[in-house]
Amino acid sequence: MASQLTAEPTVVVVGGGLAGLSASLEIINEGGKVILVEGESNTGGNSAKASSGINGAGTDTQKKLGIQDSPELLIKDTLSAGDDENNKQLVKVLSENSVAAVEFLRSVGVDLTDVNLCGGHSVPRTHWIPSPKEGRPIPAGFEIMKRLRAKLNELHKEKPERFRLLTQTKMVDIIRESGKVVGVEVVSADGEKSKITGDAVILATGGFSADQDGLLKEFGTQTLGFPSTNGAFAKGEGVKIARKLGAKLIGMERIQIHPTAFVDPKEPAAGTKFLAAEALRGKGALLINSEGKRFGNELGRRDYFTGRIQEHAKPIEESFQGGSAGRNAAIMLMSEKTIDAFGRPAFNFYAIVKKFFKKYENHQELAKALNVGDAVIKATLDEYQEIFDGKKEDPWGKKVFPVAAISPNEPIYAAIVVPAIHYTIGGLQIDDHARVIDEQGKPIVGLYAAGEVTGGVHGSNRLGGNSLLECVVFGRIAGHSGINASKTRTEL
Ligand SMILES: Cc1cc2nc3c(=O)[nH]c(=O)nc-3n(C[C@H](O)[C@H](O)[C@H](O)COP(=O)(O)OP(=O)(O)OC[C@H]3O[C@@H](n4cnc5c(N)ncnc54)[C@H](O)[C@@H]3O)c2cc1C
Repeated sequence: MASQLTAEPTVVVVGGGLAGLSASLEIINEGGKVILVEGESNTGGNSAKASSGINGAGTDTQKKLGIQDSPELLIKDTLSAGDDENNKQLVKVLSENSVAAVEFLRSVGVDLTDVNLCGGHSVPRTHWIPSPKEGRPIPAGFEIMKRLRAKLNELHKEKPERFRLLTQTKMVDIIRESGKVVGVEVVSADGEKSKITGDAVILATGGFSADQDGLLKEFGTQTLGFPSTNGAFAKGEGVKIARKLGAKLIGMERIQIHPTAFVDPKEPAAGTKFLAAEALRGKGALLINSEGKRFGNELGRRDYFTGRIQEHAKPIEESFQGGSAGRNAAIMLMSEKTIDAFGRPAFNFYAIVKKFFKKYENHQELAKALNVGDAVIKATLDEYQEIFDGKKEDPWGKKVFPVAAISPNEPIYAAIVVPAIHYTIGGLQIDDHARVIDEQGKPIVGLYAAGEVTGGVHGSNRLGGNSLLECVVFGRIAGHSGINASKTRTEL
């Protein structure tokens, strides 16, 4: 049986990524209680892997850096990236709440005081943690999840009944009684089944980028054979379980392939890849093909550059840094200046710890390793310098030129990158109260969703940094709607 509605409503949140933790904190802040159900042994999800940051349009950080931005401009960029297929109302809500979302994370101690220019954005607005001069870098997603979890632990210590976390507990079904969602059925690590009930359920179970034999086969045959940047838990269980209940799915065939995932020279054929952060290109990395030539605008949209790699780049031979195991690939080039701008500790993690990058003293060394003529690499770098200096138009329409060009005579760092399944744009249809909508266009009473489990916000293609933003904005909205579920129900 569902618990009775009390002065302190209880909301069951499923999934301990950014959407789930944002919803949980919002519920507690608004006086409710949370039971958080997480299938893995710890919270974090793919959110903890996020490396480029979260979008905010018009933040104090941007103002301090002299960047002029507005929710309207973020709406424009988001719709442009999504080919106008986005749910406009959701995009409006997303953009108008972006400053509050960044502030929400800063309020739990995340130092989001630097911004990146990511592909498809008109201005730098992807907030991340400034790279320390020395020591280990602090990846945005990991830090965000650590701080939110610490805040929830602190609230739990003060008043344990406010926040209960059940890890290694997997939702296997949603319970509906008399037309209302009243809880979920779960299985614990030892295989025991039980029911967890509350006044509302929020699904925050993430996407399906690792569901090769399920939803990817059904909706994304074009993605089969690509590696993935996601954790194995990204199986779309929230989507599948809500679908059985009659939830409407939207944009399921829109699966984002990220153009740049590192090929590990130790394991070039591996199916799970480490993402080459968007910020690398945002700080001036160049991409060339196996012939040593640029073949696209490095700051173009993700689908655009993935298409360029598929059509204009061939697999890299094993003789160059272990090759790309037969996959079409690009070579990412960085210089000392672009490394400094990106952050040396973060770069050293890729170059020294992971060994994805190899250093060449100059273009001749790189040309030799790649088995192309010196003149080809020199011409590529010289031409880019001219474009960078405004003496020539970029043939691929690059208009923003971050940091510096790469001189043929300076050290060049090179890594092989390939496209990888990164994000599932589609999912459960929600409205601007984060209510899950059914096939008939009506909200499923008591059921809410936020984050990658939902669809509609991003249209045909997601803009970098908008996913973490979506998790915070709609996670908080879902939390708010969840604790007001009794009111919402009477309104329906
Ligand atoms: C490598 C990488 C880098 C990225 N970088 C960025 C970035 O810089 N900026 C950006 O905006 N986006 C980025 N993204 C995308 C973004 O991180 C994700 O889309 C977002 O974090 C998803 O958050 P979420 O809360 O919806 O899901 P997740 O964070 O994936 O959390 C879902 C949670 O639900 C749990 N779960 C799933 N099914 C069940 C079940 N049946 N029962 C119980 N628990 C369940 C999972 O174990 C998981 O912990 C990146 C993604 C990846 C993979």
